[in-house]
Amino acid sequence: MALPLANLPAILRAAGISVVEYPGWSTRTQTDGPFAPKGVIWHHDASPPGPTPSEPAYMADPAHNGAQCWVDTRGVWTVIAAGRMWHAGLGAGWGRIAANQGNRDAIGIETDHTVGEAWPAALLDSLRIGTAAICRAYGWDPATSLCGHKEYALGRKPDPDRLDMAAERRTVVALITNPKQSQEDDVVTPQDIDAIARAAAQATAPATVNELMSRGIGLGVPVEDHSLPFSGAVKYLDANASATREIAARIEGLVQQLIAAVSAHGVPVSAIDYDKLAAAVNDDAARRMEN
Ligand SMILES: [Zn+2]
Repeated sequence: MALPLANLPAILRAAGISVVEYPGWSTRTQTDGPFAPKGVIWHHDASPPGPTPSEPAYMADPAHNGAQCWVDTRGVWTVIAAGRMWHAGLGAGWGRIAANQGNRDAIGIETDHTVGEAWPAALLDSLRIGTAAICRAYGWDPATSLCGHKEYALGRKPDPDRLDMAAERRTVVALITNPKQSQEDDVVTPQDIDAIARAAAQATAPATVNELMSRGIGLGVPVEDHSLPFSGAVKYLDANASATREIAARIEGLVQQLIAAVSAHGVPVSAIDYDKLAAAVNDDAARRMEN
């Protein structure tokens, strides 16, 4: 007879999740008690920071504690077992998951994460989407069927570290109502904006001294050959360290303003008034030189 989670890989794949079926998963089960899941417990595996691809092999060993699923830092799910696993242990219970019956009542989802580690967006995104797919397929309401190990085993367990489970439940409910396919994360983070602004600033950096001056940014020191490549000009000025520092400060100021402008307003770099920006940089440099 098929074990309860025989259709789990198919459920996850239908949600766009990349799934690895760990060898033997469909017949793997602990035999010390029944498995009749009506909820999900999220965990972290407490492996060292960064990818720890050896985790599924460890968890698949019947002598070890392990969960039915493991999500790696890229958001790929490994399905380890279709039956009962030892992931919950003792606890006061949570929602539909009874006290000390987590291994009977819940599917365990481990994540490649430990205390203090940053959560990769791809991992979280996939964890949420996959959990929503599971709850939808089995007809479970996350409000009573999704908890963290730290909620089920309150005071005994810290995982999953730093996730606000009340907020996570709301997110998963929203994903059930409005399914989203797992894919490259499409949430724009402050890091994304920073990276975009830096790339844009580099792309618009002057190639030559002439080009720099044509944008109204004077070097403040005599340069004989204005067609010098800009990097060459910096080398040329190396002998005059204070002038080089002043130029570097102006360029850095320009880049910072570009980053600030893009971050604050989300405007495309093409919409930035370059002349205004250059004037502002020059004014600022002039002010600093007066002081
Ligand atoms: Zn745990």
